[in-house]
Amino acid sequence: MISAKQRSDLGYGGNNACRMTQADLGLCGGCRFQRAVPNTRGSLFSLCERSREEPSFARYPKLPVAICTGFAPRAAEAAGRDEDEPD
Ligand code: SF4
Repeated sequence: MISAKQRSDLGYGGNNACRMTQADLGLCGGCRFQRAVPNTRGSLFSLCERSREEPSFARYPKLPVAICTGFAPRAAEAAGRDEDEPD
């Protein structure tokens, strides 16, 4: 089960019913490139924003994602650090 803050961070807050858990999302649930996209019927979809720049990534990957070469943790984004930058 994910916390209310985690749900909000994943874009599942507000009036939207949470239909995806961290387990449903797999790696995408903690990835800075993941964005929750609602449709007009209230369903939520997990969009991979990396797919915009790199066509090898599916726009809506099959969930849960267990292995992904593009994964970058949200924590690094929050800390203002780019995972692609060298140390
Ligand atoms: S880069 Fe990989 S882990 Fe991140 S959102 Fe896209 S498919 Fe999911």
